[in-house]
Amino acid sequence: MPEKTAVGENLRWRLLVCGVVQGVGFRPQVYRLAQHHHLTGFVGNNSSGVFIEIQGAAADLAMFLHELEYEPPPLAHIESIETHEITVQDEADFTIVDSEAQIAGHTLISPDLCVCDDCLREMTDPHNRRYRYPFINCTNCGTRFTIIKDAPYDRPLTTMAQFHMCDNCAAEYHDAGDRRFHAQPNACPDCGPQITFIKGKMWFSGDAAIERTFASLQAGEIVAVKGVGGFHLACDAQNDAAVEALRLRKGRPDKPLAIMVSDLMMAKSVVHINDAEKNLLQSRERPIVLLRKKSNSLSSAIAPNNSSIGVMLPYAPLHYLILDRPLVMTSGNSSSEPIVKENQTALEQLAHIADAFLLHDRDIHAHCDDSVLRVVHGAPYPLRRSRGYVPLPILLPSDTPPILAVGGELKNTFCLTRDRQAFMSQHIGDMQNLETLQAFERAYQHLCALFHIEPQAVTCDKHPHYLSTQWAERFAIAQHIPLVKVQHHRAHIASLIAEHQLNEPVIGFSYDGTGYGDDGSIWGGEVFITGSYPYKRIYHLPYMPLPGGDAAIKNPYRLALAYLWASAIPWDMSLPPCQHAKETERRVLKQQLERNLNVIQTSSMGRLFDVIAALIGVRETISYEGQAAIEMEAIACAADDSYPFDSIGVLLEAVVRDVRNKRPIAEIAGLFHSTIASHIVTTACTLRQQFDLSRVALSGGVFQNMTLLRQTIERLEASHFDVFIHRQVPCNDGGLALGQAVIASHLLKGDYLCV
Ligand code: ZN
Ligand code: ZN
Ligand code: FE
Repeated sequence: MPEKTAVGENLRWRLLVCGVVQGVGFRPQVYRLAQHHHLTGFVGNNSSGVFIEIQGAAADLAMFLHELEYEPPPLAHIESIETHEITVQDEADFTIVDSEAQIAGHTLISPDLCVCDDCLREMTDPHNRRYRYPFINCTNCGTRFTIIKDAPYDRPLTTMAQFHMCDNCAAEYHDAGDRRFHAQPNACPDCGPQITFIKGKMWFSGDAAIERTFASLQAGEIVAVKGVGGFHLACDAQNDAAVEALRLRKGRPDKPLAIMVSDLMMAKSVVHINDAEKNLLQSRERPIVLLRKKSNSLSSAIAPNNSSIGVMLPYAPLHYLILDRPLVMTSGNSSSEPIVKENQTALEQLAHIADAFLLHDRDIHAHCDDSVLRVVHGAPYPLRRSRGYVPLPILLPSDTPPILAVGGELKNTFCLTRDRQAFMSQHIGDMQNLETLQAFERAYQHLCALFHIEPQAVTCDKHPHYLSTQWAERFAIAQHIPLVKVQHHRAHIASLIAEHQLNEPVIGFSYDGTGYGDDGSIWGGEVFITGSYPYKRIYHLPYMPLPGGDAAIKNPYRLALAYLWASAIPWDMSLPPCQHAKETERRVLKQQLERNLNVIQTSSMGRLFDVIAALIGVRETISYEGQAAIEMEAIACAADDSYPFDSIGVLLEAVVRDVRNKRPIAEIAGLFHSTIASHIVTTACTLRQQFDLSRVALSGGVFQNMTLLRQTIERLEASHFDVFIHRQVPCNDGGLALGQAVIASHLLKGDYLCV
């Protein structure tokens, strides 16, 4: 605050407020406060945030500033307020002025948040003019990120531009005392977006569309519902035939489907919920929360062989209108393509899946899938960071130059940095086809436009075959900027260090399925000592053969046979993988291994989970990433003992002995989890002695396994380690880009002594 004060005299300040201050009712709040304290001046948006010129008595100005700082509107998040004293002017009132278009701004954009209680109350009030109106919103709630095309956030730069406010809506918009004062997406049934239900040649709008949607869902049909960040495919979650039809048509045989329930009560009828989980479920971000299944009335096809189920509460007003039972709400796409967001695309691409469509005419500018989280040790643990969280930045430990980190291949997200902020993109998907690459490019253009970032460097994974890596190589050449390739498992650890702003070295366990190693083999069971870069790879799981790359990954039984062969354990027909492989297949595989043809070496921990799952007969082939490990975790009973783990061969021998002795597979699975947790603790203890480090960081997709993660944390803490796990970005490859960005930034700034 400026120090000069003069009692009885007027002062004038110019303020610049940065943070999430646009589209959240900030200017109306400023207007109301100015009125309240008898101040004059003006307020407006520019691309740095909100600018204010404010004039009046010193005491009133001080009160104004205090209230602005400590009672901002509910969705606002103030990062800084800059204040300068300027010359007093002759003026009579306080006004809201037009937005200033400026370059190089620093404003933040609010994510899409759920409808607020006030709006819900109005929507269910038969006397309200927005009774049952699916696009009700106000300055305190609603869509933001997905409808904003460019900054600053004003209606003409959103997909609401095509709708002209009626007199009633305009009056609210201009009334400083109204909850919708300067609410950019303000709309009503007379002037705003409308819904349409389409089935075959039949069209219905308004309430009839809702009634028809109900009828379709009730009859076991699949309805493609346009939501906030794209389409959902919805069906009755209690109807086996409907869920199975959805799986068949979508080409998704086993992967769990998320459900939406109307309230907490309905949620409690299908899953167990503790307080922290309840808070996350009800948070305004409204993510999918993975919760422990109850044996219940839901279709068993929702999450087969899985102990958890993904549950979310309604977030768009439309959801409240169509929910009277638990609904499957899965992303509207065909198998590996990005989520569909346009009406026409939905009508074409989802025609073979959906029996009917519930469309609306408000365009979705940016796609945004639902976020997925769990609660671990009382706090959120992200598995997919997308709607509700994006595009809020992650605060970095230090300033970075503008960098684009393109992420990995599976569960791709990218990252753009600016000052101390890292903007992680929404979930893009598995970058294995042109459609996903195009979605990546669109999302990249969008985030660059919103935050005015022009990358001065680009960073990617080392894997030569990743589409993201190849894209980054082309981008670097086209833009004449440096390219930094960051090793996959180091990026995992770096992302965790960055989100916790850790400066001291840690023992980093980077355990996942696949990542390209420095030596060209496939890594995934890596332990690093961080500090100087490149982080020293201090330990890794012993190399084992991966015959035929992808073929082995999709067929854990082949992997199990290869691991047995490498450990000189005979392929005896009492073992499930041997039974699963036909005789000719076994012969060809043996030759392949003996001649080392198309066999890659791997130190992957994820693959070891696959091998054990196949060995005990839980899963011989998979249809989605991580399936074998997930199904093994689901049956594992609690165990404290461990198998010997002097080498992978010794471990396999012990497991094989138990399988032959017909030990219950739930016990073997439990013992295996316990073995890996113990192994981590033993390794950490050895490294603590050697390097005098007591901080342990756990990253990589293997730590999506809750049984392993919880056991590992408990045992490490019992051994007096400080344990760090992900809280802001996923431990899987969805968090990779953050690690790439921070490593590249340090390299570019010359912070590291490069070896
Ligand atoms: Zn509202
Ligand atoms: Zn209206
Ligand atoms: Fe990974």
